Amino acid sequence: MLSRSFTSHSVNGFTGAVGNTPLIFLKALSEKTGSKIYGKAEFQNPGGSVKDRAALGIIEAAEADGRLKPGGTIVEGTAGNTGIGLAHVCRAKGYRCVIYMPDTQSQEKIDLLRMLGADVRPVPAVPYEDPRNYNHQARDYARETQGAVWTDQFDNTSNADAHYRTTGPEIWKQTQGEVDAFVASTGTGGTLAGVGRYLKEQNGGKVQVWLADPPGSVLHSYVTSGGQLKERSGSSITEGIGQGRITNNLGTFVDKLDGALHISDEKSIRMVYELLDTEGLYVGASSALNVVAAYELAQQLGPGKTITTIICDGAYRYQSRLFSRKWLQSKGLTDAIPEHLKKYAVL
Ligand code: PMP
Repeated sequence: MLSRSFTSHSVNGFTGAVGNTPLIFLKALSEKTGSKIYGKAEFQNPGGSVKDRAALGIIEAAEADGRLKPGGTIVEGTAGNTGIGLAHVCRAKGYRCVIYMPDTQSQEKIDLLRMLGADVRPVPAVPYEDPRNYNHQARDYARETQGAVWTDQFDNTSNADAHYRTTGPEIWKQTQGEVDAFVASTGTGGTLAGVGRYLKEQNGGKVQVWLADPPGSVLHSYVTSGGQLKERSGSSITEGIGQGRITNNLGTFVDKLDGALHISDEKSIRMVYELLDTEGLYVGASSALNVVAAYELAQQLGPGKTITTIICDGAYRYQSRLFSRKWLQSKGLTDAIPEHLKKYAVL
């Protein structure tokens, strides 16, 4: 039997190819839990990640409200994927693209941004409270530059709106309205709040929406302690996620979450290897963390449920780390990979 149905349609350019990603049934984990677990294949967006949706949504909103004019400049502070999405959309639409990013990000991502024509400015990886933080530098540069727009992915709610308009309805349609739960991690909160808000509006709020949080993020404890915001401490291997504050994109939706799961780096890296081994999926660490969370949520909710999550991007942008024995050792994660999966760590 062919495993793929053929649909014949064409789209208009890069921007037309954003969204409408498949929802992948994750067979092994579904069988183990007796529930249906699905991951939304956001690595199939033309820029390679879930952030293409936010990038397009933010740029089109800035065009619509007149802040972004032909030949203008887009400026963002980003750990990577949003910048890549923005750089693609800028090339497709003829804008200049300036990206500030912490100097701790992988070389693959920096190289790709530069190849896409973005002006990349690495800055020290300091917390949000520090004025040298990449977000503040991006904002200040946009303020001082004529025709420049700071896209402000964390607090510009055009980001969550893009997911409310596209990702949420796609999941609802793809599950034929049979979704019981959605779980996702948060960088800006755009995906979680946008999808979550849409799904909760569909059947009287019955869809449960859960947060998945890596080490070093404060949101898990915020949700489980009834709204106490702790000081951020610790770090994680999962690039692109984890948060130290309630962004505008998360907004009041954070108080409507049904729960939160804290997922260790050991579990996330192991799932990177397991998804490759059992499903043939080559995904980044935040995607793996999301899938661990979907699996744990399935166990918690009991069999017979439909649980959805996001496969944010592929492993290509992180492969020199995730599949390097030396790197795994430097992070104390060698023992997190079972013996039979160690063959994939070829670097
Ligand atoms: N995973 C990866 C790899 C990302 O780059 C991001 C965005 N920074 C996310 C997950 C989280 O998405 P959001 O910003 O919508 O919360």
